[in-house]
Amino acid sequence: MNQVIIIGAGPAGAYLSLILSQRNIPVILIERRKSFDREFRGEILMPSGLEALRYLGIDEKLDQVSSHLPGHMKFFLNKKKIVEINLKEFLGAQPLKAISQVELLETLVRECQQHPCFKFYRGASVKSLIKKDNRVRGVHVLLDNGSKKEIYADLVIGADGRNSIVRRQCDLTPYEYNTPMDIVWCKLPKQEDWHGVSAYAGQGNLLIAYQTWDDQLQLGWVILKNQFKDLREQGIDAWVELMADHVDPVFGQHLRQNKSSMSNQFFLNSVSDCVERWSVPGAMVIGDAAHTMSPVGGQGLNIAMRDAIVSANYLVPIFKKDTLYLKDLDEAIKQIEVDRMKEVRPIQYKQSIPPKIILNQTLLGSLARRTIALLIKLPFVARVAGKNNNDFLYGKTKIELTV
Ligand SMILES: Cc1cc2nc3c(=O)[nH]c(=O)nc-3n(C[C@H](O)[C@H](O)[C@H](O)COP(=O)(O)OP(=O)(O)OC[C@H]3O[C@@H](n4cnc5c(N)ncnc54)[C@H](O)[C@@H]3O)c2cc1C
Repeated sequence: MNQVIIIGAGPAGAYLSLILSQRNIPVILIERRKSFDREFRGEILMPSGLEALRYLGIDEKLDQVSSHLPGHMKFFLNKKKIVEINLKEFLGAQPLKAISQVELLETLVRECQQHPCFKFYRGASVKSLIKKDNRVRGVHVLLDNGSKKEIYADLVIGADGRNSIVRRQCDLTPYEYNTPMDIVWCKLPKQEDWHGVSAYAGQGNLLIAYQTWDDQLQLGWVILKNQFKDLREQGIDAWVELMADHVDPVFGQHLRQNKSSMSNQFFLNSVSDCVERWSVPGAMVIGDAAHTMSPVGGQGLNIAMRDAIVSANYLVPIFKKDTLYLKDLDEAIKQIEVDRMKEVRPIQYKQSIPPKIILNQTLLGSLARRTIALLIKLPFVARVAGKNNNDFLYGKTKIELTV
């Protein structure tokens, strides 16, 4: 029987598993974590990600996933508000959403389980790939109960994130982009009259704050790479003071008052990379395993699902044939990379620009920020800038599920 192994039930793996199992293609999904309630992994779905979800045809179930629709986006420079965008007007019928990634993944997997061709190993870790005659043939898995298992398939898909075992064992060398930033995340109670998303720039730092799906406030304190050690040594009180000093006085007061209620503190080593090739005979990578996305512009989830759509477009016809030809399969997985690089490369390039301006602590950086702040107030410039940034919202290429 022709089957696919997918390693990793993150957005890329869970999404692709569902499309394939909906089309009756045998899929084995292997996820090392027992619960999706893992570390914070991002919750902003762009219109492109929401469109991807609609292709699954399970809107009613996805509507049950906890979410928040932000109404406004505000930008501050040196504590002063420079622009406020009404997202409902700006985005119209295609909004962006903060969602619970945990609930989203549970919903996708539950839906996969409706299909008899789907098998899920939860709490099972892929330890190595099985290779024979220059081809990946399957995986060695350590199961939840401690026993070991060999599983064979025609195709092994690594949707196993930034530390992908498929990447390592197939020698898929990453090309790393220079990301000058890291982020410290935390959650705290929401200010009563808080709405939507705010970004506070100035003095070479950036604080992002948005209302979460569970009615709290998610903070992301963007720092220069390698600054975290100093920050940790100074302690939480000093960190809160830094942030409070960086924002408007009312929000600053809120941060000080709620510092004892801060939760989910999490340091993100920001990485942006892309492997030089996405496949070898019998195996391929998608999502963060192929291209770890920088957090700029909240792209990772969306791009991961769009990788899955393109993968399905190529793989379904091959797995649906009476006879599976490995030559066709290997050619198809190469094409997936070609198609996806048309989007991934330009998006990663665009993601690299804002940190260079926002985190620049020289006079030139300050000048650049002030100039942008002045320009952005002009309605014409705001409209053009909005259009140019649409790749973050709608993606760079047109992606449709065609199978
Ligand atoms: C703190 C943070 C905030 C972010 N914010 C956003 C955001 O707001 N919007 C956005 O779009 N993106 C965001 N991102 C990026 C986004 O989370 C990732 O790009 C996205 O999760 C990638 O999806 P993926 O399925 O490729 O990989 P992952 O989500 O990393 O999933 C990989 C899965 O593989 C499993 N796995 C790994 N190795 C093995 C193995 N050997 N065996 C079995 N299973 C294995 C892991 O447990 C994991 O579940 C953020 C990322 C971080 C870290």
